[in-house]
Amino acid sequence: MPAANEKALEIVDLEKRYPNGVEALRGVSIAIEPGDFFGLLGPNGAGKSTLIHCATGLAQPTGGEIRVFGHDALSDYGAARIAIGLAPQEINLDMFLTVEETLDFHGGYFGMPKRDRKERTEELLETFSLTEKARQRTIALSGGMKRRLILARALMHRPRLLILDEPTAGVDIELRLELWHYVQKINAEGVTILLTTHYLEEADQLCGRIAFIAGGTIAAQGRSEDLAARYGVANLEDAYLALVGRRELSRSHVEGGVTA
Ligand code: ADP
Repeated sequence: MPAANEKALEIVDLEKRYPNGVEALRGVSIAIEPGDFFGLLGPNGAGKSTLIHCATGLAQPTGGEIRVFGHDALSDYGAARIAIGLAPQEINLDMFLTVEETLDFHGGYFGMPKRDRKERTEELLETFSLTEKARQRTIALSGGMKRRLILARALMHRPRLLILDEPTAGVDIELRLELWHYVQKINAEGVTILLTTHYLEEADQLCGRIAFIAGGTIAAQGRSEDLAARYGVANLEDAYLALVGRRELSRSHVEGGVTA
């Protein structure tokens, strides 16, 4: 039985110094409750990818603790990793595999029995409108289909925590909205979500709680309105501009300021 106060993701004083001396994380703490839709926002170079890499075992922290549903991400790596589904920023599909093989191989890697893999593959292909493409190699898919397949692959082993690293960077508006429908549905079904995005409207709409990260530290966290209040501004976008020291770019300054 999970402990009553068990977090989906608990990060305490996380530090990461790369071998070249860059201190990407300088004592980061966040706690994501089961069922949360949590946003991690910050400028490029803030440490978002490093945090995700540490949580998923792709990078070794130099200090601090990470627990995924109570499992230590280092000493209990297998149990922590299986609880996470990762949809990375880059399209990292194996172009020699077919769509269904992509899902099947991922399930195999996570120890799913063959029959379960087959059923889950069919279910996900259906959900993501990829059934007709099942036997196509991933190289032949459109960009939008690749994005959907990456999301389906992340969900294949039924993770309890889904990490989405800028899943909508560069996608068209229809696909972006489609992806948000999927992830909202998945969240409503009980999957906890950690999202990084540069689209503040998206974060505002989707995320119950948001953390601002800059220079490897958490500058503020809370609901969108808490962050606005914290910076003494009207909305999340203006709070973000305050975070990055660019308050002058606020749209509220521009509106009405330009006359024909
Ligand atoms: P974000 O995802 O928020 O853009 P990153 O986590 O990628 O930020 O980067 C945080 C800092 O760590 C940056 O200064 C970046 O240059 C540095 N960094 C990231 N990966 C490496 C690496 N493998 N080796 C050295 N420095 C790195």
